[in-house]
Formats: sequence, C-alpha cells, structure tokens
Amino acid sequence: MQENDPLVFRYADIKAEGGRNVKLAPAPAAYADVFDSPDTLKKLRLELDFSVGGDSILLEGRIYAELELICARCGDPLARAFEDSFDEVYPDSLEYIDARELIRETVALVAPIKVLCSDACKGRCLVCGVNRNSKTCGCRTDKASPFSALKDLDLKTPGKPGKKNSK
Ligand SMILES: [Zn+2]
Ligand SMILES: [Zn+2]
Repeated sequence: MQENDPLVFRYADIKAEGGRNVKLAPAPAAYADVFDSPDTLKKLRLELDFSVGGDSILLEGRIYAELELICARCGDPLARAFEDSFDEVYPDSLEYIDARELIRETVALVAPIKVLCSDACKGRCLVCGVNRNSKTCGCRTDKASPFSALKDLDLKTPGKPGKKNSK
C-alpha cells in the first residue's frame, strides 16, 4: 500500500544504494485542497535528494510550483512561479521514509499571503470599480473618502466644527 506511493521510500533500499536523487511531477490535483481555491496550483515539480549518513538519511528537497493567484489590489488573476526547499533527517530505525506530509506542508506554504500583479498596480476605482491599470474613469475618487469629505467641510466652515452635527 504505502510502498506504492511515489513519495514513500524503503529506508533499506536508499541506504543500500548509498543515496538517491528523485525527480517527480505529481498531478496538481493531488494538492488542490491545500489552497483556498482548488485551481490555484497549475504545475508542480519535486526534486528529492537523499544522502546516507552514519545512522540516518538526510532528505533535501526542492519544490517548483506554478500558481494562479489573485492580485491583492486589483483582483486580476496572475500566474507566477515559486520555489522552496526543505530538509529532514530520518533515523535508522525507520522502515519507510514517508515524505508525503512534508511535501504537502511545503507546497501549502509556497505562496506569499499577498501578491500584486505589479508593484505599480493602480488597483480598482473605489467609485465605479474599473481596473485602473487598463482604464481611466472620470470618477473623483478623493470624494469617496469620508475623511476628505470632512476636510472639505472644515475648509468651508472655518471656526464652526460643530455645524456638521447641528441638523
Ligand atoms: Zn493588480
Ligand atoms: Zn471610477
């Protein structure tokens, strides 16, 4: 059963071989549940490098993930590639090296919490909602802020800050 999983390795085999290098490209669908959206992960590649020590095996792994994310400012989808590495030491007492959880955790954390389509992303108009990277609307966005509205009021009624509440 677990011997048939490509991410589970027989300890004695790797030790006998003096180490092993494995490259894998698991189906992204197998990791769909670790992301908020099941379509986030588009491509995944793994590289696992096992080296045999005196009484343990060291696994050094690398993941390459292509993700489709949402810009935190304008909400447009954006494709981006990330990579990350991990390592783990497995003691001699094990019969199997099971890398499944370790890889799941690494994949789950590969994306930053917040991404922008570009540092210069202008976001969306707060009034009409157009993506201001591709369109210019005529909205006066400064009027959309309650703070600037207060500022206007103060400017027009100098010395009478209480007038706003006198209705
Ligand atoms: Zn954006
Ligand atoms: Zn607008």
